[in-house]
Amino acid sequence: MSNNVKSILNDLEARNSGEPEFLQAVSEVLTSLEPVVERYPKYQEMKVLERLVEPERVIMFRVSWTDDNGEIQVNRGYRVQMNSAIGPYKGGLRFHPSVYLGLLKFLAFEQVIKNSLTTLPMGGAKGGADFDPKGKSDGEVRRFCQAFMTELYRHIGQFTDVPAGDIGVGGREIGFLFGQYKRIANQFTGVLTGKGLNWGGSEIRPEATGYGAVYFAQEMLATRAENLQGKTCLVSGSGNVAQYTVEKLIELGAKPLTMSDSDGFVHDPDGIDTEKLDFVMELKNVRRGRIREYAERFPGASFTPVKDEGFNPLWAIPADCAFPSATQNEINGADARSLVTNGVKLVAEGANMPTTPEGVDRFLEAKLLYGPGKAANAGGVAVSGLEMTQDIEHLSWTREQVDNKLRQIMHAIHTNVRAAAEEYNRPGDYVLGANIAGFVKVADAMVDESTV
Ligand code: NDP
Repeated sequence: MSNNVKSILNDLEARNSGEPEFLQAVSEVLTSLEPVVERYPKYQEMKVLERLVEPERVIMFRVSWTDDNGEIQVNRGYRVQMNSAIGPYKGGLRFHPSVYLGLLKFLAFEQVIKNSLTTLPMGGAKGGADFDPKGKSDGEVRRFCQAFMTELYRHIGQFTDVPAGDIGVGGREIGFLFGQYKRIANQFTGVLTGKGLNWGGSEIRPEATGYGAVYFAQEMLATRAENLQGKTCLVSGSGNVAQYTVEKLIELGAKPLTMSDSDGFVHDPDGIDTEKLDFVMELKNVRRGRIREYAERFPGASFTPVKDEGFNPLWAIPADCAFPSATQNEINGADARSLVTNGVKLVAEGANMPTTPEGVDRFLEAKLLYGPGKAANAGGVAVSGLEMTQDIEHLSWTREQVDNKLRQIMHAIHTNVRAAAEEYNRPGDYVLGANIAGFVKVADAMVDESTV
């Protein structure tokens, strides 16, 4: 590692102790960027790396709301506005008990690089709260969302910062948040994406992250003259990203074998088909139930509860492809070894940073087709960008138009990432390629704008 990067990382660690996910994400990106910084001294002169790792603005706020028993509850809300060099801040909101500042800084940092890769003009941000929507009534979720937006509204805007969904924030929550924004700001603008179709949303936005991850997988397989037809696939998660990953895999003739939630995973050796996926969508999106019910409904499938054994048996099931689509660090070194040993040829990350650094090393050593989240899951924010354009035009594009644009964007990301990897003598290394291709556009804008 170069002295320059080492010193930035040391300083970062001292200033951000207790934020392991943020340090992990930054360390991976900065290590990839060493050859670029060496080739272009302007980045060092302009302290681009030092500025890139410091959020432009962090907002933390109290969210107090009343539960169904009339008791006042207090949560903590956040918005990390990381970088606006190439466009307004853009990135999702996460409602999950594990949310804290360091987690959102990691997600906001990744978002900066990812948004740059989409080819659209979007800066990077992330936000959320340590609120757990699980087990809460619709009324409680609504009151929480309204309280959250009552503070957040003053920091966002269609040309300033445009939040979207993430874990725990789906169509229902976006509706409550948008309604409250409109009520306070007295404006109907595209201040959030992921909106309903009849109030400013875009076709394909709910599907975009999952579909995009599968399109990216198709692009990667095509480099080895292969396709998804007949391929067995491991999918983790059963939320938004996992559901539409499975939907697109089925459509393309692949055979998804698994889905999961934080209680465990189901394995269906016959494959998850459209009827079974409909069951999962109703279970998760309407009844808000648990994935174990899948195995009760379809007896050919089994449910394995999560145990803290140092590895996840989901990743030990033999298959051709893996689509981690639940959460960060869900594939560790042991899991990655299992995947490689069992013959997985491709990993396309629907989730953000689902693989630990040790796991990433295993994939790179094995020369798998490994698409890191910031490239493979960029379809979600890309269609959010298209939703922003439609909002500003006051027009709605057709499903086919948006899907075609999504395919074109995933193709462009794949081409640019591969080209960057080749330019820096690491052909086929999608990690290096994504980090470099995403960085250069943002870094050049930071140099041009010289906001120092
Ligand atoms: P959802 O809330 O819709 O679904 C999340 C899924 O992951 C659920 O099945 C959930 O299970 C599971 N999960 C969450 N936390 C954990 C955990 N700690 N351990 C095990 N399972 C867990 O979220 P999304 O599908 O939107 O997001 C999934 C991933 O994709 C995240 O990493 C997100 O950042 C990323 N992503 C999402 C985008 C989007 O457009 N939505 C865009 C790009 C990336 P349970 O129900 O038990 O909590």
